[in-house]
Amino acid sequence: MRMRIKQTTKIWLSGLLASTLILTTAGCSLGDKPSTEVSGVMKSGVYKAEAEGFHGQIKIELTVDSDKISDIKVLKHGETPGVGDVAIKQIPEKVIATQSLNVDSISGATFSSKGIMGAITAALTEAGANVEELKTKQAQQAAKEAITKEADVVVIGAGGAGLAAAVSAKQQGASVIIIDKMSRIGGNTALAGGAYNAVDPERQKKQGIEDSLDKHYTQTLKGGDNKANPELVRHLVDNALGGVQWLEQLGLEFQDEVFTVAGALWPRSHRPLNEHGGFVTALQESIEKNNIEILLQTEAKELLTDQGAVVGLKGTSDGAEITIHAKKGVILATGGYAASKEMRSKYHKGLPTDLPTTNHPGATGDGLIMGEAAGANLVGMDFIQSLPLGDPETGSLTGWLAKGVESYMFVNKSGERFIREDARRDEMTAALMAQQDSMMYVIADSNTFKPGTKNNFDETIEKLVESGKVIAADTLEELAKKLNMDPAVFTATIAAYNESVEKGKDPKWGREILEKKMDKAPFFASARKPTAHHTMGGLEINTKAEVLTKDQEVIPGLYAAGEVTGGIHGSNRLGGNAIADIIVFGKQAGASAAARQ
Ligand code: ADP
Repeated sequence: MRMRIKQTTKIWLSGLLASTLILTTAGCSLGDKPSTEVSGVMKSGVYKAEAEGFHGQIKIELTVDSDKISDIKVLKHGETPGVGDVAIKQIPEKVIATQSLNVDSISGATFSSKGIMGAITAALTEAGANVEELKTKQAQQAAKEAITKEADVVVIGAGGAGLAAAVSAKQQGASVIIIDKMSRIGGNTALAGGAYNAVDPERQKKQGIEDSLDKHYTQTLKGGDNKANPELVRHLVDNALGGVQWLEQLGLEFQDEVFTVAGALWPRSHRPLNEHGGFVTALQESIEKNNIEILLQTEAKELLTDQGAVVGLKGTSDGAEITIHAKKGVILATGGYAASKEMRSKYHKGLPTDLPTTNHPGATGDGLIMGEAAGANLVGMDFIQSLPLGDPETGSLTGWLAKGVESYMFVNKSGERFIREDARRDEMTAALMAQQDSMMYVIADSNTFKPGTKNNFDETIEKLVESGKVIAADTLEELAKKLNMDPAVFTATIAAYNESVEKGKDPKWGREILEKKMDKAPFFASARKPTAHHTMGGLEINTKAEVLTKDQEVIPGLYAAGEVTGGIHGSNRLGGNAIADIIVFGKQAGASAAARQ
């Protein structure tokens, strides 16, 4: 996997190069000469500094030459590939380009952004710069020329679905351009825990797990209250394993064992070997290998149509106007809208508007608006999935004891269980909302979290404890005290749980996944609250990923895949079905668009 991480570095550079290419045409780029010199008197020299990132210290070396920041080298960092390391690469570039500290954080990489900015600020302070002034300094914007481009297939959104669509279209011989409005690729896919549901007889047999395509189909349909389109569910489950194998061919290695991600309802969740970020990294590599042009900070604003067919897009690319003509088709892969409170309250009045979200800030439903304007039908728009597993402050999915359901249990603030932990996601969230302060603790022990163990987000147990997100104690009594619970109540809850595991039956709550007792110290707890997660509704598509009108007619040249689509999950999405969805339908959308005459 190390090799792969190195390659990823190149990919990001090529992503940047791609945007630089455009920006150069437009007259201003990250590589442009600084508009003015840095204010404050800086001494020429080389300054070393460091600051805390998300995964340890970030060390840099900053060069000041004739009162200008001429170079920033990152000497050491441990930030997550494809997420945090985007900040590590892009922020120094931007600081040099703008000769200022007035540079936005990279979305989804807030801690890494803060870390690298902290180190740069420390070095500049050392150099004698007026850092307060640099933080507010406006970079001079040169007027930018409009850009025009053309490809067979144009993909909007470089999350999992878009990346899969781009690779697949290219494999079918099409020329492809993929754009993303953010300064990094990956969308919500890069923030996901990374579980992919597929019936996989080879892996499951070794673990003694009985499964079938029909079971996956029925559970998906029933788990979404039979509100999904059965044909799309069939297509999803029948092609899920093919998607795993396709990713393997692209170089992604999966762990041998499958597990049950929260809300999956069955042990068929596949996890990449390097866990968090693996899907995006593998697709990134294929994007690079296939020389697919990727334009970051490039936002589609409208679809271009010609006699009812979609023939391209118009938007902006880092301040310049951009038009991209699509000879065969446009694929909408813009993700969902859980980050848009306006859209959430438009479609789901019952959801508290102040609910935080697990989503990146770009999940604002743009594809739904553009698709609808081109005549697309929207289905299931009132189905929004909230998870019971959000960070109490940020709503993020990181920072907890995230492993398979096999390994944890939930207690409320009084130290009592209140729901089976292997329930549907909507049921768990509803039950959590009924608890005091809508708050719970996830409890796990050292049977799972042995020293050095990482959660699904690449965070070690040590780091989680150090950050205060996870509380550790050597005994259950001590843990209860730290959580302000009555130790007698808490220990009785754990004893009852362990008895259920022993007997293989959970009489009070009906949990069926009963594999591990909670009996090995140290014990751990992490606080969690509800958070808006996945928007199940969206553009209506058929099994070819063609977008349909209200009259069930295909809109020529318009395809969609991933969270922007509706009808695949019904009213409640099974955990682990989203990654399967984006790969299966992303791949399909790419192939369909490439095949269009
Ligand atoms: P999915 O899981 O369906 O692939 P993701 O959230 O992972 O969805 O990715 C969607 C991507 O689409 C994000 O990277 C987001 O920034 C991008 N995106 C959303 N709206 C636009 C837009 N108008 N123009 C370009 N990219 C967009």
